[in-house]
Amino acid sequence: MEKVLILGSGPAGLTAALYCARANLNPLVIDGLEPGGQLTTTTEVENYPGFVDGIMGPELMDIMRRQAERFGTRYQFGTVAAARFAPGRHEVELDSGETLQATTVIIATGARAKYLGLESEQKLIGRGVTSCATCDGAFYRDQPIAVVGGGDSAMEEALFLTRFTPDVTLIHRRDEFRASKIMSDRVHHHDRIKIRWNTVVEEVLGVEQNEVTGLKLKDVKTGEHSEIAIKGLFMAIGHEPNTAPFKGQLDMDEVGYIHANQTRTNVEGVYAAGDVQDAVYRQAITAAGSGCMAALEAERYLETKGA
Ligand code: NAP
Repeated sequence: MEKVLILGSGPAGLTAALYCARANLNPLVIDGLEPGGQLTTTTEVENYPGFVDGIMGPELMDIMRRQAERFGTRYQFGTVAAARFAPGRHEVELDSGETLQATTVIIATGARAKYLGLESEQKLIGRGVTSCATCDGAFYRDQPIAVVGGGDSAMEEALFLTRFTPDVTLIHRRDEFRASKIMSDRVHHHDRIKIRWNTVVEEVLGVEQNEVTGLKLKDVKTGEHSEIAIKGLFMAIGHEPNTAPFKGQLDMDEVGYIHANQTRTNVEGVYAAGDVQDAVYRQAITAAGSGCMAALEAERYLETKGA
């Protein structure tokens, strides 16, 4: 039986692993679908303290991983299929069928990109519809593309995509951005980005051709419909937490974010850290901070149990 089982390997999971490993708890980290988490699909991270000139997301995660490994963290590839929590002996089943048992579990499974849910959009995912500019931007060199969203992710994606093409249309459903001022300003002043305010995507065109050819848009203020020709559609409309395997066992809000009080869930010995329990801040540094808190909570719990 594991003393500490950590689910997820983003900043929350790896910081929890670092603290647990340094406390001689020999943690096991289950990597998850995307080892390293969301930062592995981002470019430059400018707001993680300690890096004056910024650092590339994948490099930051590689450093965190090696740092936790240095003190004895073990890693296992796999994703969580199901969990059965019972104080003293929690069970986590992986997609391989293997079942792991642990006295404490730290859930740091993060969040994933949201899509609009349009039928045409769903049919064209991977055929021009994507949520990762870093992964797919280079496929659209000198092609017209569009980004949907008004938050920091949308700004970041749009700015990054200007490296490849001079024709980026940013589509936002309101008339002001949610993004931070510094990011919004960069987008406002960029000559390769056109902004379509008060606009929603009604349909992604190209289902018959099996590749994105354009968008049917609607101006929500005037009700006017229009079409634009594009080759790539980058969704940046936020995220949803990866908590499906824990539904029914842990208290959550209506979206699926786990209710955690100083990382403690409603089940003894089960902790939540990072984006799975944070719908508000969702930063790498806050995720790392809550990973540290979860590790300290788990350590204290194990002490009280004499484990
Ligand atoms: P977000 O801040 O939640 O923004 C999501 C955006 O998508 C909003 O503008 C929202 O519109 C729009 N949206 C949501 N659902 C939609 C729908 N169904 N149709 C059309 N538009 C929709 O998410 P995010 O941009 O992914 O950022 C998440 C967190 O990460 C934030 O805290 C952000 O600051 C942080 N982040 C920081 C950086 C950085 O500092 N470099 C980079 C990326 C992300 P409304 O505005 O109308 O709600």
